[in-house]
Amino acid sequence: MSFKTFQLNLYYLRPWLTFILIVWLLGSLGLGWLVNSLLIIVGLLLLAPVVAFFGFRWWLQSNLVSDRCPVCKYEFTGLNQTQINCPNCGEALLVQKHRFQRLTPEGTIDVTAVEIPTQSAED
Ligand SMILES: [Zn+2]
Repeated sequence: MSFKTFQLNLYYLRPWLTFILIVWLLGSLGLGWLVNSLLIIVGLLLLAPVVAFFGFRWWLQSNLVSDRCPVCKYEFTGLNQTQINCPNCGEALLVQKHRFQRLTPEGTIDVTAVEIPTQSAED
């Protein structure tokens, strides 16, 4: 190992050496608890995003619903227990029990078709 690589290694090790030195110093001063609590805080800070990420992924997996629109058969993804509109036909849908359901029960949405007798305007 040449002197230069030794210097380079030392350069990269210096933050760690400083860290160890500080820990040792605080420990010798009877401030080991401070080091421990700092380590716990740093550990939590590092852990929190990981936990949040996996928690969010789990939540998303159990709440994402892929189904077909009951009206136009367009397949898309929605969140469970939410009300959405079909991106294809605009029908208001309710995501329930991992299925897409029409918000308005079938039959009631249909406006009763009134047959208007075709009369000629010439009468
Ligand atoms: Zn649709």
